[in-house]
Amino acid sequence: MKNIELILSKLRDMHGKPRCELIYGNALELAVATVLSAQCTDERVNRVTLSLFAKYKSLQDYIETPLEVLEEDIKPTGFYKNKAKTIKNITREISERFKGHIPEDIDAFSTIKGIGRKSANMIVGLAYKTPAVIVDTHVARVSGRIGLTGSNNPEKIEKDLKKAIPEYLWTDISLFLILHGRYVCLARKPECERCLLQEECDYYNK
Ligand code: SF4
Repeated sequence: MKNIELILSKLRDMHGKPRCELIYGNALELAVATVLSAQCTDERVNRVTLSLFAKYKSLQDYIETPLEVLEEDIKPTGFYKNKAKTIKNITREISERFKGHIPEDIDAFSTIKGIGRKSANMIVGLAYKTPAVIVDTHVARVSGRIGLTGSNNPEKIEKDLKKAIPEYLWTDISLFLILHGRYVCLARKPECERCLLQEECDYYNK
C-alpha cells in the first residue's frame, strides 16, 4: 500500500494548493469551460470564457442563441462546431431532464450526451465540493507511474484510486495529479530529477 498522506504532502510541496486552472463562477460555467478545454489549453479557454460568460449567463442564453453565433463566440478554442453542438445539447438536456439544475449525482450527470465520466466527476466534484476522482490523461498516466493503479482503463483507474485514497482526499489528489502531469511528470519525458515522489514512484524505482 502506498502512503497516500506522504504522497499528498509531497504533491502539496511541489504544487501548492490543489486547483483547477479553468476560471469559472458556477457549475454551468465550469461545464462549458470543460467542454471548451478539449484539445485546447486552459489559458486559451480562460481568454475566451472571459467574454463568453459575460454574454451567456444562463442555460436559456445557450439554448436560445443560434448555433452559428455560439460557434463564432467559441471559435478560438478549436473544434468549435462540435463544441458548440455539445454545449447546446448539454444545456438543453439539463433544462429538460434535470429541471434546469446541473445534477449533483455524478452517475446521473454522466448520462448527458457530451458529458463523459471524467467531466461529470470534475464538474460535480469542484462545483458542489463532492468527493470525486477525476481521471483525465494526466491522472491516468501519473497514477500508473506512481503505482496507484495497474490499469489503462479510466473506469478501472477510478475504482483503483477510490480504493487507494481516502474519500475526503479524492478531489484534491485528482487535481494535484493533473498539475503534476502537466508540469513535472510529463508524458514523453517525466522530469524525475526535480520530482519529490522518487521514493514512492514505481516507475522511478523499476
Ligand atoms: S519520479 Fe518521475 S515518473 Fe515518478 S512521479 Fe515523479 S516525475 Fe513522474
